[in-house]
Amino acid sequence: MSLEVTGLEVAYGRTRAVRGLTLRVEPGEIVTVLGANGAGKTSLLRALQGAVKPAGGQIVYNGHDLTGQGAAARVRAGIALVPEGRQIFVSMTVHENLLMGGYLRGDDKLNRDVEAIYDRFPNLASRRDMRASVLSGGEQQMLAVGRALVARPSLVMLDEPSLGLSPLFVERLFGLIREINAEGLSILLVEQNTHMALETATRGYVLELGQVTREGPAERLAADASMAEAYLGGG
Ligand code: ATP
Repeated sequence: MSLEVTGLEVAYGRTRAVRGLTLRVEPGEIVTVLGANGAGKTSLLRALQGAVKPAGGQIVYNGHDLTGQGAAARVRAGIALVPEGRQIFVSMTVHENLLMGGYLRGDDKLNRDVEAIYDRFPNLASRRDMRASVLSGGEQQMLAVGRALVARPSLVMLDEPSLGLSPLFVERLFGLIREINAEGLSILLVEQNTHMALETATRGYVLELGQVTREGPAERLAADASMAEAYLGGG
């Protein structure tokens, strides 16, 4: 269940958002991708999700070449995205949002898995028939994670999940990421909260102008003085 990205290119017209990016996520890893605004982090995740077509390179998951495939094929292959800004459906109920996560599933265990999400998040259970708009930002983030889990992924990608959350919810969110990882899911975590991301991840990549400029074990990146100067202050 490893993700292998090789020489990935994402371009919007003349803007080359991702340039020759090579990255891997091994089974059971938490890998973080760090970088400033505009470094290309969201473009990377959108290419992995199948929302944008890469201009070059290769995306292989679990031995399957997904490069030319659409978003549904990525979900079926076991890759789920928790998008930037959560992107939950605010006019739908909490329950309907969770069901959306399973829209590609053809099995009859969806309801059981949605109930498991309610066991994990009691705050969502008590609001299951309310519109998602009544949830706090932190609860909406939990709902976005829950919705991704309902797809039964083996790899969860999260795009700046801590953005805009209170410190308490940030702690809970990173706790949740560790928890689902301990249950066997691989994690690709895009963050601007460098400090928390490196504390949680096993390995990391630093993106600058669409290119990987540093990579390695999380402790080594955290100890890298120039890295600290460039990023840790902003975390
Ligand atoms: P942020 O933290 O702001 O989301 P990011 O690291 O995720 O930043 P991207 O959103 O991937 O970076 O953007 C990378 C580059 O691509 C930027 O120069 C951005 O302006 C450009 N870009 C992103 N999306 C588009 C688009 N739809 N059309 C044109 N240019 C885009």
